[in-house]
Amino acid sequence: MLERGEVGNSWRHERWDSLRLLTPNWQSRLPGLAYDGPDPDEYMAAEEVAGLITRFAAKAPVRAGTNVTSVRRDGDDYHVVTNQSEIRSRAVVIASGACNAPAVPTVASALPPDVEQVTAFDYRNPGQLPDGGVLVVGASATGVQLAAELSESGRSVMLSVGEHVRLPRTYRGRDVLWWMDASGVWDQRYDELDDLHRARRLPSPQLVGTRDRATLDLNALTAMGVELVGRWAAVRDGRALFSGGLRNVCSLADLKMERLLDTFDEWAGTGNDAPGRLPSTEVPRSTRLELDLRRGEIRSVLWATGYQADYRWLDVPVVDAKGNLSHNGGVVVDSPGLYALCLPVLRRRKSTFICGIEDDARDVIDHLSTYLAGESRAPDYALAHD
Ligand SMILES: Cc1cc2nc3c(=O)[nH]c(=O)nc-3n(C[C@H](O)[C@H](O)[C@H](O)COP(=O)(O)OP(=O)(O)OC[C@H]3O[C@@H](n4cnc5c(N)ncnc54)[C@H](O)[C@@H]3O)c2cc1C
Repeated sequence: MLERGEVGNSWRHERWDSLRLLTPNWQSRLPGLAYDGPDPDEYMAAEEVAGLITRFAAKAPVRAGTNVTSVRRDGDDYHVVTNQSEIRSRAVVIASGACNAPAVPTVASALPPDVEQVTAFDYRNPGQLPDGGVLVVGASATGVQLAAELSESGRSVMLSVGEHVRLPRTYRGRDVLWWMDASGVWDQRYDELDDLHRARRLPSPQLVGTRDRATLDLNALTAMGVELVGRWAAVRDGRALFSGGLRNVCSLADLKMERLLDTFDEWAGTGNDAPGRLPSTEVPRSTRLELDLRRGEIRSVLWATGYQADYRWLDVPVVDAKGNLSHNGGVVVDSPGLYALCLPVLRRRKSTFICGIEDDARDVIDHLSTYLAGESRAPDYALAHD
């Protein structure tokens, strides 16, 4: 196992200071390492996650400080180059993460130079930004959490909202992720989904892990004084242009949330009249469609527009033009012996979550063992290019 930094690297060095998991402690489990602390319903801070992974890795043959700079095919094998040595291997499992770099839209390059830009990948706390208003772009888990943090720090915050997934933190007295788990939604398999391509690109849910298990949706942010605007579409003559479709994306998110809660009710055999369902998202009658970025109202832009994997070290032609690895349930397409883990909906809806690795790894390693035993079976490539 080769790790360029230290064990738990992303949790030690690539998260903002206040981050807490959005999965409850009891759910943030690794194979054979269930949570046994006093607060199963609370949410771990990043350093606690690093500690969990470090405990888990104690018996693993990890070579830390070993940066993989190239992997290429060499006959039936792989030739792996690191900053330490070169390795020949019959098989390689890519477990380098789905979130190595920020995904920033192209409009970023058109911003006036005096507006400071920071991505959620590099953001640590509000003190890092210049005084003045902040435009947070993206309203998924990262964006809503950082908009709330910046607003609480006394900043004037505007939030640009595109497609998002709305969820209540709790439903019928249980954490909503308990329902995802118990009802089987998180176990839905990649080869049974109607639209795998879409499922793999779904944004993270609007959730935050706080002691009071509060819901952090757009209504909560509006109540805090955050101004909502539509999706950032373009920059023209120093003006940010926002979509007028905010009401539509919010209605869609409300509808999908209701449908999901109905699914839970159906599974539980209750009526779908649970008290305490969230009210619809309140969208102002008219939202700003443009903002002059040269006027100083907004001094910084925080891009919370997602993350992407970094495969620049992979010299095997298995990454498409959009930077996605071509794989079928973690079996990389057209490159026998190459595998991947922990990518969105790799084999199940829960694949990118910490609790998702156990089932996926079992399936992928099963295929890998068969391959190494010389019984290479041809994977079903029908879904491969998703
Ligand atoms: C902001 C954020 C919040 C999240 N919140 C949750 C949550 O609440 N609950 C949850 O279950 N999951 C959460 N996740 C998802 C979480 O990241 C995954 O569940 C899990 O940590 C992924 O583990 P991983 O080992 O696949 O990836 P990573 O944690 O990214 O680890 C990949 C490792 O590979 C190393 N690496 C990369 N490239 C190379 C190379 N070329 N050579 C050598 N080493 C390399 C990196 O240094 C890193 O240590 C969150 C993710 C993010 C980004």
